Order: sequence, then C-alpha cells, then structure tokens
Amino acid sequence: MAGPARGSITIDVEECKGCGLCVESCPPKCLELAPELSSYGVHPARYTGHDCTGCGICFYCCPEPGAIIVYRLAPPAKTLVAQSQPGGGHAATL
Ligand code: SF4
Ligand code: SF4
Repeated sequence: MAGPARGSITIDVEECKGCGLCVESCPPKCLELAPELSSYGVHPARYTGHDCTGCGICFYCCPEPGAIIVYRLAPPAKTLVAQSQPGGGHAATL
C-alpha cells in the first residue's frame, strides 16, 4: 500500500448478520469474515486493520442499519514553507 490509510471502519458484531456483502464489495479487500461465531451463530465481518480508503461502499451495501460506521481520516496538514521574496519579504505558501 502506498501512503497512510485514508479511512477506517468499525463493525457492530451484534448488528452484523454475516451476509458477506461488504467483504465482496470492498475495493481494496480489507474486510473479512471472522472465523469465530457471533451470538447469532454467524461469522461476522471484521476489518483487517489496514488499507481502508474511507470510500463508504461497505456502508451503502450493508443491509443492516448501524452495523458499519465509516470514518474518513483527515489528511496530514501541509507544511508551511517560507519563501524569500525580492526585497527581503517572506511569503508562506501551502
Ligand atoms: S470504506 Fe471502502 S475501503 Fe473501507 S472497508 Fe468500506 S468498502 Fe473497504
Ligand atoms: S454487509 Fe453488513 S451484515 Fe453483511 S457481513 Fe457486512 S457488516 Fe455484516
């Protein structure tokens, strides 16, 4: 993967019904079905912990309201660079 993750998600295991739609639809394939069973007797989806882009596709394809929360991570702040100007002034650019 190039660069830091741009997103993250959480999955409520008690809301997930283990249908696998989010796993199949995630473009970077960063979701999987857990090997252990939930209290509903299904294998719930879980985040692998890396490569999420925050695209939200898993949220929109999930049939269970509230099972998935997507977070879009703020990009790192750009560094201020001081540039010398003719006449001795300085200008800060982003
Ligand atoms: S937000 Fe996008 S990249 Fe992240 S887990 Fe969901 S489908 Fe995958
Ligand atoms: S789409 Fe929703 S219900 Fe289906 S496995 Fe993913 S989180 Fe669970």
